[in-house]
Amino acid sequence: MEKTDIKNLTLQYLEAYISGLGKERFRAKQIFKWLYQMDAMSFDEMTNVSKEFRAVLQERAEISNLIPEAVEASADGTRKYLFRLKDGSAVESVLIPDEGRNTLCISSQVGCAMQCAFCLTGTFGLERNLTTAEIVNQVCAVKREHPVNNIVFMGMGEPLHNLAGVIPAVKILTDPDGFQLSTRKVTVSTSGLVPEMAELGRGCTVNLAVSLNATTDEVRDQIMPINRRYPLKELLAACKAFPLPSRRWITMEYVMIRDLNDTLEDAKRLVRLISNIPSKVNLIPFNEHEGCGFKTPTQESIDRFHKYLLDKNVTVITRSSRGGDISAACGQLKGKLDRKDEAD
Ligand code: SAH
Ligand code: SF4
Repeated sequence: MEKTDIKNLTLQYLEAYISGLGKERFRAKQIFKWLYQMDAMSFDEMTNVSKEFRAVLQERAEISNLIPEAVEASADGTRKYLFRLKDGSAVESVLIPDEGRNTLCISSQVGCAMQCAFCLTGTFGLERNLTTAEIVNQVCAVKREHPVNNIVFMGMGEPLHNLAGVIPAVKILTDPDGFQLSTRKVTVSTSGLVPEMAELGRGCTVNLAVSLNATTDEVRDQIMPINRRYPLKELLAACKAFPLPSRRWITMEYVMIRDLNDTLEDAKRLVRLISNIPSKVNLIPFNEHEGCGFKTPTQESIDRFHKYLLDKNVTVITRSSRGGDISAACGQLKGKLDRKDEAD
């Protein structure tokens, strides 16, 4: 019999699992706290659970974990973790310190199926979905070394292409008996899978970020194939309908690519597109990578774009590229170590 990995279970499912084994449901909360607040690695550590029941759990269930295979530190403080999974594939997580707070960027899939033209992760295709346990274990592993204040699903993969793994993970991260993160501190980023946006909103409470990246269907079709299925009009309607945590806005991510979407006309169209959606804009200057012909915009066009949005009272930040020296920046994750020695 294969053991149940209890890190795949939300509190609700853990309660059902425990009562299925003939125990009181409230034991589930105790076990949940051991897993996510005390970082227990074995059932034996759970001293407020009877020895007999620990033995039952030991026999039927397991507590999985991820150990970083490699950690690379950037000159700017960003740290990139490489995790080897059971089947030999690998994913990456990136810890980004900023003004005393740490944001952890986690992966939801090995690779990605969406094939955005500017994204390195996308060029490898989708290998497989991560399990809920593999998603939360990225957080467990990094938390052993550094406090984690914020979580963004912006690593490898399209989280909305793996809702079965992601929704339970969000629940565990935001559960008051689990990781105890505020729902305002967890953000799921999507390239724009419209029906799944609604499903995410029904399944859990979480912040949403949308990789908009273009202001016309013509350009978006060209760089994000998903747009041919769900064009801008449908995407923006889904944004408007999304049930955000209170006092929150949708984050519109906008990767700026030289001579493609970086003009003042784009800035004007962007303001019009998002005018009736509570949102803020994250400008991300394109991070260049080998094998991709796109170029990062000039500082001048970034500044012009940024200033136009500000003048129109749009909340905007231009994301400084972090961790570029260790290939940890947006769109540079490929789940492999940089083999500088091989290139020599
Ligand atoms: N699949 C999800 C989340 C992961 S991608 C999504 O697309 O939203 C996280 C962000 O990195 C997205 O906003 C994407 O547009 C951006 N990105 C991808 N490649 C990039 C690159 N080369 N330079 C800058 N940003 C990039
Ligand atoms: Fe996938 Fe997001 Fe990269 Fe597009 S930008 S290929 S959706 S990871």
